[in-house]
Amino acid sequence: MIGLDDGLYAAMVRRGVTRRSFLKFAAAMAGALALPASYAPRIARAVEAAPRLPVIWLRGQDCAGNTETFLAAPKPTIAELVLDLLAIEYHELLMAPAGDGATATIAAAMERFPNGYVAIVEGSIPTGADGVYCLVGGRPFADIVREVCAGALATIAVGSCAFDGGTPAAAHGSTDAKGVGAIVPDARRISLPGCPMNAENITATIVHFLTFDEWPPTDGAGRPLFAYGGLIHNQCERRAHFEYGEFVTTWGDEASQKGWCLYKVGCKGPEVYANCPTARFASRVSWPVRAGTGCIGCTMPDFWDQMGPAYARLPGVVPFVPTITVDQVGLALVGGIGAVAVLHGGASYVRARRGRAARRRAQRAAEAAAATPAEATAVQGEAAAPAATDAGPVPDGREEA
Ligand code: SF4
Repeated sequence: MIGLDDGLYAAMVRRGVTRRSFLKFAAAMAGALALPASYAPRIARAVEAAPRLPVIWLRGQDCAGNTETFLAAPKPTIAELVLDLLAIEYHELLMAPAGDGATATIAAAMERFPNGYVAIVEGSIPTGADGVYCLVGGRPFADIVREVCAGALATIAVGSCAFDGGTPAAAHGSTDAKGVGAIVPDARRISLPGCPMNAENITATIVHFLTFDEWPPTDGAGRPLFAYGGLIHNQCERRAHFEYGEFVTTWGDEASQKGWCLYKVGCKGPEVYANCPTARFASRVSWPVRAGTGCIGCTMPDFWDQMGPAYARLPGVVPFVPTITVDQVGLALVGGIGAVAVLHGGASYVRARRGRAARRRAQRAAEAAAATPAEATAVQGEAAAPAATDAGPVPDGREEA
């Protein structure tokens, strides 16, 4: 049971969030969750009445990039609103206490909100050498994750490292790093991979829970479908250049300055599921491809080993026909144009034949008008005969001669 009695909207008002900003936020959340705009009032009502969710935010092997993206947006902001959606009980980077005092707040929060807090895990979890590579308060981080997640309402893994180990788990990593799923496989878990994750996605995840009293539907890897259900390639503003075969081939070339497609310099967008093009970063200002560098596939499992090297072209996959390369698409387009030309030529041929036949019938009718009545009847009957042969094949070609 969630126990904080400080209402969310009251907290927002105290932070200077206006009613107008709040309603805009509700509308933006409806959009982020791929819900119709008519859901905005329901979201507003639910969020405004909701207590803030207590959070224990754990950090293992990480660079604090997800915390940074959570906090970095300018005011007034989604990030500010996120902070008001959550009551951060424990976060080593944000809290004032340190040492034993800080560690003690984990146990205190777990006791205060049994099965009522959200565990957020940032960073991978080393399991090599009994977890000695990451100790918090003298304890292996993996043990703390097991303990905290076991009593949580849900666990949210933020960033690629918490998702499946990320870069610390890449080939030749020395710490045997794992993601949250490997440490607490039975926990109710939502994963928000990305390097870093998008703050809008964690906000929308929380808002979904507050509005519908359930977590958003996810794919098999625990990623919410509203955020990870679509290919980057299908949402990319450079997609038209892909279709026209307009590619950057060298960094800094003219095509690069024109904003053409980055596929040939390593963009992994055709194989990557995420909402980066629409959610963007830093208050929706930009995202990597818009800024001029290709997608590196950081929301995908085992991304460092599977999607790299970052600037190497994909081995030849496009999403709609997975076995066709871009070059083959080009050839297919040429072939398609050829087929259209053949069809067009055939249709023109039939039209030409019909025109010639009509002219011949008109000529015979004119000749009949100048002939005897009997000859005229015969010729007119011939001229009025249906044009069955007009569009049909010409048996011996004599009419065409
Ligand atoms: Fe955009 Fe990359 Fe797809 Fe090109 S390959 S359209 S840059 S996502």
